[in-house]
Amino acid sequence: MSLNHPRRNENSKVSAVFIISAPSGSGKSTLVSRLFANVPGLTFSVSYTTRLPRGSECDGKDYHFTTREDFEARVKRGEFLEYADVFGNYYGTHSGVLERARGEGKDLVLDIDVQGAGQLKRKLPEAVTIFVLAPSRQVLEQRLRARGEDREAVIDRRLADAAREIRNYENYDYVIINDSLERSAETLSAIVYAERVRRIRIEESIRPILDTFEVKESLR
Ligand code: ADP
Ligand code: 5GP
Repeated sequence: MSLNHPRRNENSKVSAVFIISAPSGSGKSTLVSRLFANVPGLTFSVSYTTRLPRGSECDGKDYHFTTREDFEARVKRGEFLEYADVFGNYYGTHSGVLERARGEGKDLVLDIDVQGAGQLKRKLPEAVTIFVLAPSRQVLEQRLRARGEDREAVIDRRLADAAREIRNYENYDYVIINDSLERSAETLSAIVYAERVRRIRIEESIRPILDTFEVKESLR
């Protein structure tokens, strides 16, 4: 069955904002790339970071890679909507991302940590927050090992960090327990489609429809 959904509300000036957080290894990157493959009309917020690029990561696509000096100068100039120190590196969301998404007529997806999500939700209360949770600590450990990116000490630290981070699930609107990848990817798409038809987001598309009824009424 294909998901029955209306076209994106082109009249709407305000983009929906989706904030996705998860402890490392929970499957967030995998789910976000599925989301982009499955759902049109989305744009990804490319963050600034002071960490070094990994593997095939591209400057400007995965992150804007920069120095601590440059990052701190941007903080002083008030360029970030939110920023945080994550695992000893700075990460931040540039305030231009919202304007760009709006200009493109797209909804914005942010992959940011629990600290950044908290800061952003205070500034943008209408943002939709989604937390991805591995089904158990054991499964998280298996996934971190299977990914083959981290050394043993790093895996241990990521597991300890996960134990702390998962306590923040209560601050999120949605929690996806990432057991079956297919089901979780479908759930994430469904959240986006459902949020797009919230009444407050489609008010501008509803009014012209109501007007067509009023015209008919006045002709009677
Ligand atoms: P994150 O971005 O949260 O750090 P990744 O997307 O890199 O996590 O996923 C971690 C590892 O787990 C990857 O090897 C990925 O292929 C695998 N993975 C993700 N989701 C699932 C799932 N539902 N079932 C099994 N393996 C998964
Ligand atoms: P990684 O280095 O593995 O790409 O990301 C590490 C963590 O930083 C992840 O939890 C990711 O969600 C988070 N992160 C990425 N960009 C931002 C950002 O702009 N702001 C905040 N607060 N966290 C971010």
